[in-house]
Amino acid sequence: MKVFVPGAGELRLCGMTTRISHWIDGRTVSGSGDRTSPVFNPATGEHTGDVELAARPDLERAVDSATKAAREWRSTSLSKRSAVLFAFRELLAAHTDELAAVVTAEHGKVLADAAGEVARGLENVEFATGVPHLMKGGFSEQASTGVDVYSIRQPLGVVAGISPFNFPVMVPLWMCANAIACGNAFILKPSEKDPSASLLLADLWKRAGLPDGVFTVLQGDKEAVDGLLTHPDIAAVSFVGSTPIARYIYETGTKHGKRVQALGGAKNHMLVLPDADVDMAADAAVSAAYGAAGERCMAISVAVAVGDVADPLVDAIAARLPKLKVGAGSEPDTDMGPLITAEHRDKVAGYIDAGKAAGATVVVDGRQADVPEDGFFLGTTLLDNVTPDMTVYTDEIFGPVLSVVRASTYDEALAIVNANPYANGTAIFTRDGGAARQFQFDVEVGMVGVNVPIPVPVSYYSFGGWKASLFGDTHMYGPEGINFYTRGKVVTSRWPDPATSTVDLGFPRTR
Ligand code: NAD
Repeated sequence: MKVFVPGAGELRLCGMTTRISHWIDGRTVSGSGDRTSPVFNPATGEHTGDVELAARPDLERAVDSATKAAREWRSTSLSKRSAVLFAFRELLAAHTDELAAVVTAEHGKVLADAAGEVARGLENVEFATGVPHLMKGGFSEQASTGVDVYSIRQPLGVVAGISPFNFPVMVPLWMCANAIACGNAFILKPSEKDPSASLLLADLWKRAGLPDGVFTVLQGDKEAVDGLLTHPDIAAVSFVGSTPIARYIYETGTKHGKRVQALGGAKNHMLVLPDADVDMAADAAVSAAYGAAGERCMAISVAVAVGDVADPLVDAIAARLPKLKVGAGSEPDTDMGPLITAEHRDKVAGYIDAGKAAGATVVVDGRQADVPEDGFFLGTTLLDNVTPDMTVYTDEIFGPVLSVVRASTYDEALAIVNANPYANGTAIFTRDGGAARQFQFDVEVGMVGVNVPIPVPVSYYSFGGWKASLFGDTHMYGPEGINFYTRGKVVTSRWPDPATSTVDLGFPRTR
């Protein structure tokens, strides 16, 4: 498939590199500086593009365009905004294959997974089409004699979104669908590792009828992010990425008077009770630990096996791993693609020796897998007898490595999950409804699955972890997203009694 990236032409899968630029005022714009960052095809290792890194004048130009657009856009009727979102939804659905091809070419995940990412993002657009309903306020008639009180929600102005490499379509849609529906102008700062999908999104927004300047793409790195965090005309910042950067974004943004929601990293545990369906749990563990090469914030990275389920569970997972085909995500029979960069692949591989040296059992070693020579590949790794003091447990590895921790009882397993500083997602596997309900009550984690390994909420709920997985108090998308991108106003209103009017309105003079 040929994919054309706005401003860059055909996406290069081989040959010369493309230059990937910004999207400002409804068109691609070359930056003012000369700093760029290389973009790779992780399946071949080839350097396919160079993304421009915004300098201060690019930031000012983007904010200026967005500020002007925000003034007009907030006056646009709810029905017109909703119509743009409906059109955008149709375009996203029609261009899913193109978007997926770009994601696979720069991220490496398999095409089906990339298409799934588009579908999950599209759900957020569908939710946002309901903005006329979502922005309804409350009304109290006759709060006092002749006095009515009502609440309205209004957009913030210009808001920014900073996204990670692992979901270059879905995470921007988590943010921009609601932000734009609510009447804001939105500036996206995508990951510099896979920046092209952002330009396809920009083009689709324009074709859906969104006025120029309401959706902007500012390519860049820390310099662009710092500019957004401190710019006086940016009202709010949404961030998704690693925990150290999320903490920095939250602290810096709030210090500069902005509303900030910053979602961080994860170490997601799957608790398997002795009564669980072992095959079901093993299938779930394999897809949730190794899907997208483990580069998902909701990936399962620790299986906590309770009691005597541990041996059959480890055996069942290990038996499944040789059947997974590791290769280019663009090949239809591939189950798992490469990692994002060579450095990240080497870092992840380093954890296998670290685990072994600390006393873990290496059941399956991903370095010995049959993987393509070129590209940033690593096979699947399964570590058993991991304990919470090992770095394979404490660190977010963000790769295809699953650790099994053994616990004697439910209470011991629960204590392990609750002691972990991350608290994004978790899941329990059991046939016992009472045990599942108790876990849902006890566990200190933001998103919980019951026999569902990756409990990403549907778009009409909101997404967010607890503790080091979220800085700020607002989860992303869904109802909390609408809340985040609007501010409330309460009007207290009194009109003169028409009976007291000097003009005869036809009302009885005394009532
Ligand atoms: P990252 O934190 O390295 O980068 C995220 C964004 O921050 C990028 O746009 C990047 O350009 C920018 N950035 C990087 N370093 C910066 C700095 N020093 N100052 C300012 N900005 C900086 O994350 P990543 O590697 O792109 O993504 C993977 C991480 O994201 C993992 O930790 C994963 O768990 C997390 N993640 C979390 C969620 C969630 O919902 N909680 C979802 C997806 C990914």
